[in-house]
Amino acid sequence: MYDYLIVGAGFAGCVLAERLSTLKNKKILLIDTRSHVGGNAYDYFDDDGLLVHMYGPHIFHTNSSRVFNYLSDFTNWRFYEHKVLSYVDGKYLPFPINIDTINNLYGKNFSHAKEMKAFFRSRSEFREEILSFEDYVVGKIGWDLYEKFFKNYSIKQWGIDPRNISASVAARIPVRTNFDDRYFTDKYQCIPSNGYTKMFNKLIDHPKIEIKLGINYHELKRKIEYGTLIFTGPIDSYFGYKYGRLKYRSLNFSFKEFDKEYIQRTAVINYPNDFPYTRTTEFKHITGQSHPKTILMYEFPCDTGDPYYPVQNSETLAVFKKYKDMVGRTKKTLFVGRLGTYQYLNMDQVVEQSLSTFDRIARC
Ligand code: FAD
Ligand code: UDP
Repeated sequence: MYDYLIVGAGFAGCVLAERLSTLKNKKILLIDTRSHVGGNAYDYFDDDGLLVHMYGPHIFHTNSSRVFNYLSDFTNWRFYEHKVLSYVDGKYLPFPINIDTINNLYGKNFSHAKEMKAFFRSRSEFREEILSFEDYVVGKIGWDLYEKFFKNYSIKQWGIDPRNISASVAARIPVRTNFDDRYFTDKYQCIPSNGYTKMFNKLIDHPKIEIKLGINYHELKRKIEYGTLIFTGPIDSYFGYKYGRLKYRSLNFSFKEFDKEYIQRTAVINYPNDFPYTRTTEFKHITGQSHPKTILMYEFPCDTGDPYYPVQNSETLAVFKKYKDMVGRTKKTLFVGRLGTYQYLNMDQVVEQSLSTFDRIARC
């Protein structure tokens, strides 16, 4: 008999397993269909000893001291500020757009925020309401920059016209009026010095946590006894798709190894054009590994496969609401994480959500 069955050994599942065992002495069974812990943040060393993020580049960034301090009990950090270039009109330009991007693209010589603001004002198109991705970007910086940097990348990433993508997705990307070429500006930006998987292993290294990998909840649920269920997989799958399937976007990853030390200038290069992939990642920039070889990952977005990105729109949110209403009636089951709550959450937001969930449990 377990106090908790936790489904999913990603950030949500592991943080809750750690808190419940360490602070409440609860007996936990933590399971995952995959053969490893860490969820989408899992990393591993390939045959040549290169550290690879199996499910795409993961850069930890947060403004939350609570989240940063909590994870710091389980890892040391490598300071890393993420840089991205976008391949536009045959040039590799800083992205998010900053002064250098505009100067290089349009042959300008701007140096002040005032000039950038005036430039964007002159290019932007008035939108009565900012509802879609397109409204957000065109309303802020105009058609040309939208078409060069955003339109095709987003069509590839989401498989739909950006008129049907939520403005909140566009709001993830700032537009800079200075020279800052970092992808994120959070207070803490780093990655675990020995990789994410080592950090996860430390998180769940507790005598009260039992881990079973390669097991699906739906096969196991009637075979074991437990008090409370914490489900961090897709919420629609838990309810047997009773109200239909929620939409997720998936990715196919392809890896290519090169017999040279570095292959691209920054960790990530975005391709907002008609190439079949959206971005390439050279992990060594992120991991800081010193190695004579290097590895490049290509991301090919697709509809089928592991559910990586919730596709939020009025239709899917209406379906999600039905599942959420069911949650209220489902005793002793908690839904946490990016898939469990059907939200486009970063790692730090999932940790924050999991710590808050624990606080609520602890108060009861
Ligand atoms: P997950 O990591 O998805 O874990 C859920 C686990 O549940 C999975 O391992 C799954 O196998 C398991 N599961 C599902 N159903 C079942 C079942 N029925 N039975 C058993 N197990 C089940 N965030 C950042 O902060 N920075 C980044 O740079 C960043 N880059 C990203 C890049 C990509 C390509 C992607 C896809 C995401 C990125 N993220 C990034 C987001 C980050 O991956 C998530 O916020 C985080 O991993 C979510 O953790 P989670 O525990 O909610 O879910
Ligand atoms: N995006 C874009 N051009 C880019 C990078 C991002 O249009 O060069 C859009 C795209 O729709 C993407 C969204 O901005 O899904 C959010 O980008 P982010 O880098 O946050 O995506 P993630 O790292 O979560 O895949």
